Amino acid sequence: MLHKILIANRGEIALRITRACKSLGIKTVGVYSTADTGLMHLRFVDEAICIGPGASSDSYLNIPALLTAAQLASVDAVHPGYGFLSENAEFAEAVENAGMIFIGPRPEHIRLMGNKVSAIHAMQKSGVPTVPGSSRAVNPNNALSEAKNIGFPLIVKAAAGGGGRGMRIVERVDTLLESVQAAQRDAEMWFGDDTVYMERFLQHPRHVEVQVLGDGEGKAIHLFDRDCSLQRRHQKVLEEAPAPDLPEEARKDILNACVRACEQMQYRGAGTFEFLFEDDQFYFIEMNTRVQVEHPVTEMITGVDIIEQQIRIAAGLGLNLSQEDIHVKGHAIECRINAEDPLTFMPSPGTITRYHAAGGKGIRMDSHIYNGYAIPPYYDSMIGKLIAHGHDRADALARLRQALDETVIEGVKTNLSLHRTVILADAEFNQQAMDIHYLEKNLLRGLDSGTQEDSTAA
Ligand code: ADP
Repeated sequence: MLHKILIANRGEIALRITRACKSLGIKTVGVYSTADTGLMHLRFVDEAICIGPGASSDSYLNIPALLTAAQLASVDAVHPGYGFLSENAEFAEAVENAGMIFIGPRPEHIRLMGNKVSAIHAMQKSGVPTVPGSSRAVNPNNALSEAKNIGFPLIVKAAAGGGGRGMRIVERVDTLLESVQAAQRDAEMWFGDDTVYMERFLQHPRHVEVQVLGDGEGKAIHLFDRDCSLQRRHQKVLEEAPAPDLPEEARKDILNACVRACEQMQYRGAGTFEFLFEDDQFYFIEMNTRVQVEHPVTEMITGVDIIEQQIRIAAGLGLNLSQEDIHVKGHAIECRINAEDPLTFMPSPGTITRYHAAGGKGIRMDSHIYNGYAIPPYYDSMIGKLIAHGHDRADALARLRQALDETVIEGVKTNLSLHRTVILADAEFNQQAMDIHYLEKNLLRGLDSGTQEDSTAA
């Protein structure tokens, strides 16, 4: 087993990884920026090292600083969490070149999936269905002919994209060229790579994703699926597992296709295949080569500790689970809790003056906040995740509703009321999973105008 892990992240996921290491008896090294001295996990790690000033580019994205910290502390492995450098192949390579283990896939797979055009090609080769589209880079010269094959509306996306940023929906041919150029500019600005591609814009899909684990030597399993359709500006707001009301045959086929693709490429570690699901068809959109924010819903229904599995695989212990061991038990739903204005969605950093976490049967709160914790203005506004597990969807919803009512966070604005009074109070959502446009079009109408036009501001 590994002896000492550096956690190259912050917030709730750094605390989550610290907990997993503790239960495995592994020593931990926490890192923090000068704006982050109040982080909860720093109280529990064996060593804490400051890696730079508040801005992420100077600290949590600073590869030399992280490598120096890892070497100073003589760790044998680095866990990147999600976000920051978790899908940065150069970081993974640098960690490995320095003689340490990167807790994640091989750099070649991070690179392959980090470019959505190459990811789509890889999936097409493995027989995983993709969204009808150009599946090659587009530019103002070839956009028109590609668009004719795809049809309108279509969506222009950055090959290196992430976080729902920079996608442009094009309704008509006359705005195609300017949209492609604008998308190229956005892609360059956000991701330092102006490669864009186009695919059909699906009108009423759900977002369904498959969690996988691979041992890196050709054996892989799936941990079933999640539905993450409730989104704002292409960013997930609420997630659930398993994905409700999927036709069983289609579910089985897609789970098997994901496992086959992992086995073929000898994928190592945890990963997620993301799909749009419309009219009983799955369409691959991307693969995330890291642990996801929403991994707890899968843990609740399968009983598998995904971070522990990541660590075991990285340590070379392989998979101690086989597909037959994995069963779905009940239903789990997660609300992302953000420190943000519930009406304008603007971040609301500040000091938490009062905090009470909900509890009870089937309730899990993954959060690093506490009374007196000052949320710095530099980072993502997500401050926690409230998860409810029940024996079925209705039971999970009832528990989540009660847990939301019990949760107290004061001192900063949060989106708790969005979950409580808008989403969980909606009769249709309580009946069934809704499509990816439902939250914005039906529940946030009037609250959140212009979301479709300007997704770059997210
Ligand atoms: P990112 O990597 O930025 O998160 P994704 O490709 O994963 O981007 O897409 C994020 C979300 O954007 C999806 O869950 C979906 O809501 C929307 N989206 C992406 N592609 C399409 C499409 N072809 N048609 C309709 N919506 C899409």
